[in-house]
Amino acid sequence: MSTTENEPAANFIRHIILDDIANGKNGGKVQTRFPPEPNGYLHVGHAKSICLNFGIAKEFNGSCNLRFDDTNPEKESDEYAKSIEQDIKWLGFEWHKEIHHASDYFEQLYGYAVELIEAGLAFVDELNAEQMREYRGTLTEPGKNSPYRDRAIAENLDLFTRMRAGEFPDSKYVLRAKIDMSSPNINMRDPIIYRIKRAHHIRTGDKWCIYPMYDFTHCISDALEGITHSLCTLEFEDHRPLYDWVLDNISLECHPQQIEFSRLALAYTITSKRKLTTLVSEKFVDGWDDPRMSTLSGMRRRGYPAASLRHFCTAVGISKKNHVTDMGLLEQYVRDELNVIAPRGMAVLRPLKVVIENYPEDKIEQLEAPIHPQNEAMGTRKVPFSREIYIDQEDFMEEANNKFKRLVLDKEVRLRNAYVIHCHQVIKDEQGNMTELRCTYDNQTLGKNPEGRKVKGVIHWVSASESVAAEVRVYDRLFNTPNPAAAEDFRTCINPNSLSLISSARVEPSLAEAKPEQCFQFEREGYFVADRYQHSPEKPVFNMTVGLRDTWNS
Ligand code: ATP
Ligand code: MG
Repeated sequence: MSTTENEPAANFIRHIILDDIANGKNGGKVQTRFPPEPNGYLHVGHAKSICLNFGIAKEFNGSCNLRFDDTNPEKESDEYAKSIEQDIKWLGFEWHKEIHHASDYFEQLYGYAVELIEAGLAFVDELNAEQMREYRGTLTEPGKNSPYRDRAIAENLDLFTRMRAGEFPDSKYVLRAKIDMSSPNINMRDPIIYRIKRAHHIRTGDKWCIYPMYDFTHCISDALEGITHSLCTLEFEDHRPLYDWVLDNISLECHPQQIEFSRLALAYTITSKRKLTTLVSEKFVDGWDDPRMSTLSGMRRRGYPAASLRHFCTAVGISKKNHVTDMGLLEQYVRDELNVIAPRGMAVLRPLKVVIENYPEDKIEQLEAPIHPQNEAMGTRKVPFSREIYIDQEDFMEEANNKFKRLVLDKEVRLRNAYVIHCHQVIKDEQGNMTELRCTYDNQTLGKNPEGRKVKGVIHWVSASESVAAEVRVYDRLFNTPNPAAAEDFRTCINPNSLSLISSARVEPSLAEAKPEQCFQFEREGYFVADRYQHSPEKPVFNMTVGLRDTWNS
């Protein structure tokens, strides 16, 4: 795991750009853009595109625009736009100057459509959707020309003007590029470039009742912004001839180069905004930023450091080959980052009371423990020790062989950062459940081994009176198959046990004092983050970020 942001991974896009710079193309300038549609929250796949676009711009002293591709008014919202801005900043990137919107260019786009009509390269069609499908042909058969294809230029101009003026109902007419109905590439078979749609737009309101299609909008927006390299995912490869055709046939000088790379797909997760929307709207999760979601806001709330996502994206690399990345890889970057930065603390998730009989009743000792055992500079914390403490139920057995390096009846164990204790009695309720352990401690064992004997096991604990009750949410994978997107209905692959709510955990005082979004290693348990919204020192709430070891392949 040695990749860092300072050593950009070699990839074919960097090679193209290095060549372009060497050849003086675009005056040596590099201008990229990240063009999300504000119709959902960003997910981990978008992180790859963000890291690539912003990373390339930074590396070559260029800049990267943020452009909202807002041409589908019904699905878009301001909430989505705001969340996208926040997520990009959180990931650690800054867009160039003001935010752009495809809708900023609606007037210009209209003008370029008129240019195409005037050049005899676009026509107003009135086939209905079904007829249009029939005329389109298939992958193996060519399409047929629409009977309206040869309308006179003047008539096309008149109809297009009246489409804009709102004279016709939705879907009555469309504007189509006049390219080639027999092209082997279906995208080139007279694609629609404008449609009539009466929908309120988040930025232009009701000004427009016709909206340009993505393929027409995207290339022109790129060119208007002086983008040099338009990086997009592989599914747009077949759209590139259209991208180039539009720019070759209008009066814009700039002609960005579209380059495609493979999408990020992560095992056991969904990277489709449409499906993520279903998870939210059908309440399979608690909103877009539920820590089980593969959204950036979900990963943030889960406690993934932004740097670990950037490192992961670098490690995944950029190629033309689609493949599925193992979730374990992402988690390894999360662990690597947190291992270095996360303060340590003790939390007992399933408390079992321990009474230390030879410890004075009202005494409370403030023991000192390192905040990070490998980094002295992080200092120490105070851990209160008292006669009654809690240990985890899983750390005690009445009988066990030597492999069980925790507390056993009639044996000893070390309490982490504290003393060695010996258990001599188990107290049970009427049903036979253990309710309490009676122990003694050896007061000569603080920070040193007892004389004449070895104590191998170390367990964590908290003081009963000085610890704070906390809610801890432990997560399992959200889907129980590696490729839920391939299922007929991905909802059938949802793991019903992806969330375990532990409402009676106990945490040491230093953990209760966490700031929202602060991450810790709960010693021997894993990494946990103080919930961004619900945590408070009085009522601590922690989300599990990741365990100490990879469990995806076990
Ligand atoms: P979705 O299928 O989730 O709706 P999208 O491609 O429609 O994704 P956009 O908002 O249009 O979503 O995406 C913005 C940019 O992010 C595009 O350039 C797109 O290619 C890129 N992108 C989206 N998903 C991925 C992914 N899984 N891996 C890499 N890049 C992606
Ligand atoms: Mg899209």
